[in-house]
Amino acid sequence: LRRNRGETEFHQAVKEVFTSLTLVEERHPEFADAGIFERLCEPERQIIFRVPWQDDEGRVHVNRGFRVGFNSAIGPYKGGLRFHPSVDAGIVKFLGFEQTFKNALTGMPIGGGKGGADFDPRGRSDAEVMRFCQSFMTELYRHLGEHTDVPAGDIGVGERELGYLFGQYKRITNRYESGVLTGKGVSWGGSLVRKEATGFGAVYFAQAMLEGQGTSLDGKRMAVSGSGNVAIYAIQKAQELGAHVVACSDSSGTVVDEAGIDVELLKQIKEVERERLSAYAERRDGVEYREGAKPWDVPVEIALPSATQNELDADDAAKLVAAGVRAVVEGANMPCTPEAIAVLQEAGVLYGPGKAANAGGVATSALEMQQNASRDSWDFEYTEQRLRDIMRRIHELCAETADEYGRPGDYVTGANIAGFLAVARPMIAQGVI
Ligand code: NDP
Repeated sequence: LRRNRGETEFHQAVKEVFTSLTLVEERHPEFADAGIFERLCEPERQIIFRVPWQDDEGRVHVNRGFRVGFNSAIGPYKGGLRFHPSVDAGIVKFLGFEQTFKNALTGMPIGGGKGGADFDPRGRSDAEVMRFCQSFMTELYRHLGEHTDVPAGDIGVGERELGYLFGQYKRITNRYESGVLTGKGVSWGGSLVRKEATGFGAVYFAQAMLEGQGTSLDGKRMAVSGSGNVAIYAIQKAQELGAHVVACSDSSGTVVDEAGIDVELLKQIKEVERERLSAYAERRDGVEYREGAKPWDVPVEIALPSATQNELDADDAAKLVAAGVRAVVEGANMPCTPEAIAVLQEAGVLYGPGKAANAGGVATSALEMQQNASRDSWDFEYTEQRLRDIMRRIHELCAETADEYGRPGDYVTGANIAGFLAVARPMIAQGVI
């Protein structure tokens, strides 16, 4: 704790995983003997750098950039870049730590990493975002490579930002190295389904959990928090599978649409116009906008927190339980606080942790890397089928591992232990490095 002073979210993430790992430690003393636990929570490398840029009025701003290479036991560092004012070392480290296990659960050869900057792209012009991305990549490029470290998007980093980042990488290195970034536009090396993958994948995971209980998403009332990349495509897929999604949100408020969220209108407002969610309520009849509210007051059977860390606390969980929620599935990274998870688990609610449930995005990034390496591009149906299969396998692996360690139905234990074993054994094989 002293070594990582003030890194609250990182402490939270490590504590959650290590609590599950006490079960492994009892059965497998070889991991402690090899120092695996200490090595796992110390990143292999961390880079912090200055990102100076000029706004449209010529004023100079200085942001702080980060990249953490957490673990490369099973492949190059892989994980998104987040541009948000809250980004600091503790946030990037918690995300990189989680990413290591998540990536291992996908069964693909990708290690764990994460990065970003305390830059807020909201309200900035395209030209300002471009100058920021170019400055950011001017330092970061020397640490990247398709065999070394492969970033992608996350909060505040979508196809526009990735385009500017890729353009600058190409210009500085004189290499068209498609495999150095994922989440690229489909016309310049991106993969179909990558944009949809995290949201779709979380819904496939929810569906698999419900099927295990002899039910499905069909006809279920659902709330999704956020209205960004993950939320939009989770809503779309949930609706395709028959769920009735009645609420979504942004950091300013929640919309409640009893007729069901109009996902095309949502895409127009968030992806095309880059507007606030309140615009959705202004343009559609019968929609209630709750300023400053989270979506957890809305009675639903399924909740999909898909905005940010620690957005669903114990009070929110208690409200959901009282309203009869059956499953909470994390589209975001660590959106439920530890106290909220305890409330849900005590009430017997199905709980799908982010490192398993939202792994569809990074899994499809690995499929993008495969396509780039073979200079091929796959069609939508084939790629989506691969994603669906991967999510089913992750679900089975978590459920089987939970059974094996005497905790049936506990996806937290299942995901943490399965992810750990997939990384720890290669770490032992590769020696003390
Ligand atoms: P986006 O930037 O596309 O959307 C983020 C959404 O969450 C926005 O609606 C935003 O609202 C809201 N939000 C952000 N911060 C807060 C906050 N502090 N309080 C309330 N709402 C907030 O990001 P993504 O959809 O890509 O990411 C969402 C989550 O999913 C993150 O936890 C991310 O790490 C995780 N994730 C994303 C993956 C991906 O492929 N994109 C892969 C795996 C996990 P506003 O516009 O008001 O800020």
